[in-house]
Amino acid sequence: MRAAIWTPRLKPQTNGLQTQPGSTHRTCDHTRVIDLHAHSTCSDGRLTPTALVARAAEAGVTTFALTDHDTVDGLDEARTAADTHGMTFINGVEISVTWQRRTLHVVGLAFDSRNPSLANGLATLQQARRDRAARIAAKIEKLGVTDALPRAQAMAGDGQITRPHFARLLIEDGICRDNNQAFKKHLRPGRDAHAAIEWAALESAIGWLHAAGGIAVLAHPFGYGFSGAWRQRAIAAFAAAGGDALEICTGTTDRQQEVTAARDAAQHGLVGSVGSDFHAPEQFWLGLGRLRALPGDMNAVWHDARFKV
Ligand SMILES: [Zn+2]
Repeated sequence: MRAAIWTPRLKPQTNGLQTQPGSTHRTCDHTRVIDLHAHSTCSDGRLTPTALVARAAEAGVTTFALTDHDTVDGLDEARTAADTHGMTFINGVEISVTWQRRTLHVVGLAFDSRNPSLANGLATLQQARRDRAARIAAKIEKLGVTDALPRAQAMAGDGQITRPHFARLLIEDGICRDNNQAFKKHLRPGRDAHAAIEWAALESAIGWLHAAGGIAVLAHPFGYGFSGAWRQRAIAAFAAAGGDALEICTGTTDRQQEVTAARDAAQHGLVGSVGSDFHAPEQFWLGLGRLRALPGDMNAVWHDARFKV
């Protein structure tokens, strides 16, 4: 969450769910355990789609969406794995959006993954991501890193090259002491190895998802580091652009945030979604499917007619 990359946090955020090891809080809807936001090696996750689905099944998840950043590459593999576990699988994606010079994430659910509008839109974002990687590689080579792009690609494997890969190169080549310094001195906006990127417009991302018969969810409203006013503006802009749902319960929200988000959603006619944003087993404080139920009598995205399996 936050940026389009995952960087390990040293300390778990306390959201009340992690105090008891093996805690079994779950988003239940009658007998279902639902998790509609998770990442695989097709973007910046640590597990292959098959391994991720197996882990979700082990955790008791019964309705699951794979939502890699700007790609649907893992969906076929994940669906096949889900079938073997008797799990309900929902097509998912997390689209990067630039709004008011800030990055927002729009989770798409239950769309036709072969729809050409969506495929073309995602292709432009993947190209933008590759261009950015090449620009950052050129910049860190000027700082003394050798063969930056091929080495970053080797680290990423089939997944996306992300800024933490370049941070690792800066450390390996002795230019930075640690990840924190690499970002602070070189990779963050305004520093010498930063490369800006223009993601999709909010209206475009929502438009592609609707063209593909899917549902648009504004991901983790508390995950952008916004003030309350900016959070409300983002939710209002998302709703005005045709968005359908707001992610209320995530792996790092506390109940107060969930209640606040549910109130914001109701104000703008958005229904609620839930998703852990799981990236890696090292995030031991964040379990697949370990999410609270939506607050009160909030309408759930899985009751939307378009939420077809
Ligand atoms: Zn995510």
